[in-house]
Amino acid sequence: MRNPPSKPWGVKTRAIHAGEHVDPVTRASSPNLVMSVTFAPEEVAGFSARNRGDYEGFLYARVSNPTVKQLEDKLAALEGAEACQCFASGMAASMGLIVGRLSMGDHLIISEANYVGTAELVRDSLPRLGLEVSPVDTSDPAAVAAAIRPNTKMLWIETPANPIMRLSDIAALSKLAREHGIRDVVVDSTFATPIATRPLELGADFVLHSLTKYIGGHGDALGGAVVGRKEDIAALNLESAVHYGGVLSPFNAWLILRGAATLPIRMKAHEETAMRVAQFLETHPRVKRVFYPGLPSHPQHELAKRQMANFSGMLTFTADDGPALARRMVEKLNVVHYAVSLGHHRSLVYWIPTDAIMRSSFRLEGEALARYRAYAGDGVFRFSVGLEDADDICADLDQVL
Ligand SMILES: *Cc1c(COP(=O)(O)O)cnc(C)c1O
Repeated sequence: MRNPPSKPWGVKTRAIHAGEHVDPVTRASSPNLVMSVTFAPEEVAGFSARNRGDYEGFLYARVSNPTVKQLEDKLAALEGAEACQCFASGMAASMGLIVGRLSMGDHLIISEANYVGTAELVRDSLPRLGLEVSPVDTSDPAAVAAAIRPNTKMLWIETPANPIMRLSDIAALSKLAREHGIRDVVVDSTFATPIATRPLELGADFVLHSLTKYIGGHGDALGGAVVGRKEDIAALNLESAVHYGGVLSPFNAWLILRGAATLPIRMKAHEETAMRVAQFLETHPRVKRVFYPGLPSHPQHELAKRQMANFSGMLTFTADDGPALARRMVEKLNVVHYAVSLGHHRSLVYWIPTDAIMRSSFRLEGEALARYRAYAGDGVFRFSVGLEDADDICADLDQVL
């Protein structure tokens, strides 16, 4: 046994070494890709995940797999969590967490504008399962307080929120939830990553990531993860992984492990380049507004400084005649890809028209719609600033603007 470190590892060391170990048989230094579905126990062990007795080894890949486990241990270490459960995608993680934790008649409060997949899931699928859902503006703690019911079991925050980069105060909302006996505070921290924000330290119970984005970082593997307390994650493993079955493939875990190792240095570069691009856009005559948490012009810049140790690489901007600009982007961009998704080494941009996203996903009306339009107007360009040279990204944008 080697000596344990004399003080806790820094985040860069954790990103590289946490969860990983030298293979005891081959002495391989990099994580092994273990594709085996079943494992030969050294004793007569239980026959299901619920009946495994004291046997701690691997039994079946839907319960746990050695490559996925290394990623889970790394993610837990990065978030300062006791445990982690990986899923096949961010949406599998969201569904696993919501349906794994809530029962018919329970009430969920969730950001009124957030990732569209989540927005559609909670509005269309959950009511069908007998769950009550209230989409509210979670950037306003008073609005959250007003929505709390006796059966509110979960508060779901996404910050910064897709696609308008609106922030929610995790510490204030966690405190509010505690005071009202809401059992689960969940933070979808996909845009922030553990490099910017560690929600558990601010009072949250669960943190959710789409690993497809910054943590994998290279646009070649879908994945999702939930971190939290050991007993909660063990229950999630039994219910949502073992029974619902949407677990992460070992191959994707292996790719995401490699991506996660460079997360801290990538996030630093994403932030630096995003700041340059945000400043370029903010002074461009054809751009109306830029929303980037790192800019003093962001309506919640003070909260961003308090809650985010890194401003990440996501920004949103509005411009005159969005549809025509989107068309020029599709036809003319060289460096930046006109494509959905985010957090990859490549820069990605996409046009999100307000009317269309209201119909398909958010369905906001009245004041809520006015709040959204105050950010987005007729539509936003969601821009995931990649790791290319800032000058090349700005030149590419300039030729289409
Ligand atoms: C992409 C995304 C998801 C869904 O993740 P997938 O891996 O695509 O299933 C959830 N939340 C946020 C904030 C996202 O950006």
